[in-house]
Amino acid sequence: MVKTERVHVLKEGIKKPGPVVYWMSREQRVNENWAMLFALDLSVKLQQPLTVVFCLASNFPGATLRHYDFMLKGLEEVEAGLLKKNIPFYLLMGSPPETLADFIAEYGICHVVTDFDPLSIKRKWKGDLLTKTTASVYEIDAHNIVPCRIASQKCEFGAYTLRPKIKKRLHEFLDEYPMLAVQKNQGSFPLTKNDWISALQFPLSNPEIPPVEWMKPGEAAAKIALQTFLDQKLERYNEKRNDPNEDATSQLSPYLHFGHISAQRIALEIIKNLPGNPNTESFLEELIVRRELSDNFCFYNHQYDSFEGFPQWARKTLNEHRHDEREYLYGFDEFENARTHDPLWNAAQLEMVKSGKMHGYMRMYWAKKILEWTQSPEEAMDFSIRLNDRYQLDGRDPNGYVGCAWSIGGVHDRAWAERPVFGKIRFMNYKGCKRKFDVDKYTRKWLSKTNPLTLF
Ligand SMILES: Cc1cc2nc3c(=O)[nH]c(=O)nc-3n(C[C@H](O)[C@H](O)[C@H](O)COP(=O)(O)OP(=O)(O)OC[C@H]3O[C@@H](n4cnc5c(N)ncnc54)[C@H](O)[C@@H]3O)c2cc1C
Repeated sequence: MVKTERVHVLKEGIKKPGPVVYWMSREQRVNENWAMLFALDLSVKLQQPLTVVFCLASNFPGATLRHYDFMLKGLEEVEAGLLKKNIPFYLLMGSPPETLADFIAEYGICHVVTDFDPLSIKRKWKGDLLTKTTASVYEIDAHNIVPCRIASQKCEFGAYTLRPKIKKRLHEFLDEYPMLAVQKNQGSFPLTKNDWISALQFPLSNPEIPPVEWMKPGEAAAKIALQTFLDQKLERYNEKRNDPNEDATSQLSPYLHFGHISAQRIALEIIKNLPGNPNTESFLEELIVRRELSDNFCFYNHQYDSFEGFPQWARKTLNEHRHDEREYLYGFDEFENARTHDPLWNAAQLEMVKSGKMHGYMRMYWAKKILEWTQSPEEAMDFSIRLNDRYQLDGRDPNGYVGCAWSIGGVHDRAWAERPVFGKIRFMNYKGCKRKFDVDKYTRKWLSKTNPLTLF
């Protein structure tokens, strides 16, 4: 049974019997998905058939062939999983509110279920759909363990203010998932297969950025990645997670971003395997508190990706240092092509461009240096978000907007000692990295021409 607190009614439609559609968007998985479970429960209760659709938009901001490839392969697996549950799955191509509204009209759908997403483009799509349909529309938070609207009703200052609110409600929401039942009657929706080859040719954004080979997409691959983390890395997580030469983090962020696995499943398995351990504690802090803090920020602060979204103290200090002389200044192309004077920064950029996933510790250094070497904090936000969204498999995510805003604009952080350009924004430098890990080893690895992850 899906908890009512996960459900937000976006629109009470005309009350008449008719089929149910789950508009899958952020949570691209069949199993352990509260939105899918809610949609099936609703269809059973109403004795109406259920179908699932995914709307494939071309030119999704920042998305590249790398992202479409990962996503479409994951969706192909969703199709196979749904077939086993006797639930038809349709891939609709074109502007989501329009293609979906046409689909709803064609099949006489009366109930639309969709998943929660705080990002503005998704909110715009949903808003547009509401004007085009008379069906009821329900939004289910299947991403946050404690639903975003329930955890807090305001934009939190930092992890220290959200953490107690999440901890208070966690035991209520961190429960086991029921199995998704097989649909008894799919009504007039035929169980057809989608054309995945044409689908990959459909999106138009950035076809030159290639897919990655080292990480397989989909629900099954995500489960394997989780098991590998449990078996081989969790025990080193607390001590080694900030060392980019150690493979000690979970590598789960692309799966979480595309919804191939739920954070709730990850948390349940982590707690089962290693309860009450410092590694578990520090991992759950990232997975639950930090991740859900990003959704909180993007949901309650509509300027989450810009200078205007920074806290007042940070805007003030950055304004005071706006005209400070910069020792180095680079344009977007120089950053993108890893042509700065700093081999460590260039190595981090190449790790992202080649592998599609920069190590978490390097992301902080990388974004802070963009602030140091651009004309203004606005330009720094623009460059870092564009690069992050274009190359990281987990990009275009609340975590990415908040990661850039934390690094450049002090979001969820506090004021530090004042210095040029940064003002009171926390500073990071090469020497600090050298104290933490073997900088030369990392730099050699990513600057090496023989690195098997060759660029394009
Ligand atoms: C400038 C910058 C940009 C970033 N861009 C992104 C992005 O585009 N997408 C993204 O998912 N994360 C982003 N992060 C946050 C973090 O760096 C990544 O989530 C993490 O490196 C992913 O690797 P992992 O799954 O192996 O992490 P693990 O250390 O294994 O952590 C497990 C999970 O916890 C969550 N998590 C970890 N660190 C953070 C954090 N600092 N904030 C919020 N959640 C966190 C993620 O969901 C992650 O998958 C960014 C951070 C910074 C500073």
